[in-house]
Amino acid sequence: MNAPLLNGQVAVIGAGTMGIGIAQVAAAAGHPVRLFDIAPAAAQRAIDDLARRLRQRVDGGKADAATTEALLARLERADSLEQLADCALVIEAVAENLAIKQGLFRDLEALCSPTTLFASNTSSLSITAIAGALQHPARMAGLHFFNPAPLMKLVEIVSGLETATETLAALQALAQRWGKQSVVCRSTPGFIVNRVARPFYAETLRALEERVADAATLDAVLRDAGGFAMGPLQLTDLIGQDVNYAVTDSVYQAFYQDPRFTPSLVQQELVAAGHLGRKSGRGFYRYDAQRSAAEIAFAPPAQVALPQRVTLHGDWSSLADLAQLLSENAGAIKQPGQTSPHVTIDDVTMMLTNGKTAGQLADERGTPVVLFDLCADYAHASAIAISCAAQNEAQHNAKAIRLLQSLGKQVIPLPDYPGLLTMRTLAMLANEALDVVNKGVAGAEDTDLAMLRGVNYPRGPLAWGAALGWRHILATLENLQRYYGEARYRPMPLLRRYASPAAFPGAER
Ligand code: NAD
Repeated sequence: MNAPLLNGQVAVIGAGTMGIGIAQVAAAAGHPVRLFDIAPAAAQRAIDDLARRLRQRVDGGKADAATTEALLARLERADSLEQLADCALVIEAVAENLAIKQGLFRDLEALCSPTTLFASNTSSLSITAIAGALQHPARMAGLHFFNPAPLMKLVEIVSGLETATETLAALQALAQRWGKQSVVCRSTPGFIVNRVARPFYAETLRALEERVADAATLDAVLRDAGGFAMGPLQLTDLIGQDVNYAVTDSVYQAFYQDPRFTPSLVQQELVAAGHLGRKSGRGFYRYDAQRSAAEIAFAPPAQVALPQRVTLHGDWSSLADLAQLLSENAGAIKQPGQTSPHVTIDDVTMMLTNGKTAGQLADERGTPVVLFDLCADYAHASAIAISCAAQNEAQHNAKAIRLLQSLGKQVIPLPDYPGLLTMRTLAMLANEALDVVNKGVAGAEDTDLAMLRGVNYPRGPLAWGAALGWRHILATLENLQRYYGEARYRPMPLLRRYASPAAFPGAER
């Protein structure tokens, strides 16, 4: 099955955003490609438009003329499904509608050879359900590209209940040849990326709803401090609020309204108002001509002397890069011990948020407490978010701010919000990723790879969680669950196992 597919004719059905991108990828890899669309002239229009864009790149010196012309020569329009009968692989990227996709593959099965492989680029429909229309569902799998298909490295190869291992293997070999990194997962709602990524948006949308800070400040926490390429609100403006909301709602409904996927009312309002993001000129931000750069609420330089005694208590191996910064730039002395890692700055305790409020921790410890948020990379983050206990005096907070500013960081002071923002986001991402692994949807490596390549996260949520320590992730979620009284933050079974290796011998991390 493998050899003819690797060199054979590929059909792409649907000449919209994704279809033409997939056709370009296949043609660039050397396949003759036929593109079919039900709308008259749509396929030719898409090919002409691609040709214009690619030739512009040649004119701009960004692409080679001969390679571009050879690619375009391999791409042709088909005017009927019959013209696709001899293809080795058919990839559909038509409207996201189960009945349409089932009908299409039923028609194709009657036309194509028994060895033709069928693939669907669906983002949210069940591959098992689409393949259910076929006499031979073993030949069908999901081949989920990300937008824009020629640029995004990841492809999710999705296995339906009846998909044959040979089908998966052939698509894996193909994806590799097409220069893509593939991950294999079972057909479950959202596959890997669209499921694991939900909390990235949801936690910031919640913080906005709870009026923790304005959109620009919240985005800066995840981006400039947390290490994500874009803030979640910025990113939803780029994706389109309607599209992002629809994906969340579809995952929520598909999981029988599990509260951990509850869509955001703030986002629903934006959609209702037609504030869809960049494409409509307004979303969380404005994109009109007069738009002014959004102000971010950084703390002004703290007007206090540098702290005298900075001590690192406990085991800092999980925050080694921050410990190094504090030792090298602030002269912090190490005092190893069994306690969880915290810094004392004279009489002030500073520690990584664990889902309790700074006020709670100040009561428990009997000292002023300043909490800091998680960063993917403390050494290179340009900012760091903090929250201060209400019991603190202003000079306590100033000492913590001064210390962080002396490390070259912009400080973003947030209200006393439990779990701050990047920490609670990572806890939820890792929790979801562990559920994916626990339920056999995908392996741990593929899950992390999907998040690294599909949505460009700075670290895979599982590797990041393991490095930080599963106990800290568990504590954060348990504290958030207590604070909100909501099942949204419930820790997944695999998290409990990883966090208590003694109680669960054989736990991997
Ligand atoms: P689109 O609306 O841009 O294009 C769909 C095209 O399919 C249209 O040109 C339409 O005329 C054609 N079409 C509809 N029914 C057809 C049929 N029965 N036969 C032939 N052509 C038909 O849509 P899109 O954004 O390219 O999405 C296509 C698929 O890819 C959907 O399943 C979507 O969920 C999935 N997807 C989209 C994205 C994305 O970011 N847009 C990302 C990954 C996957």
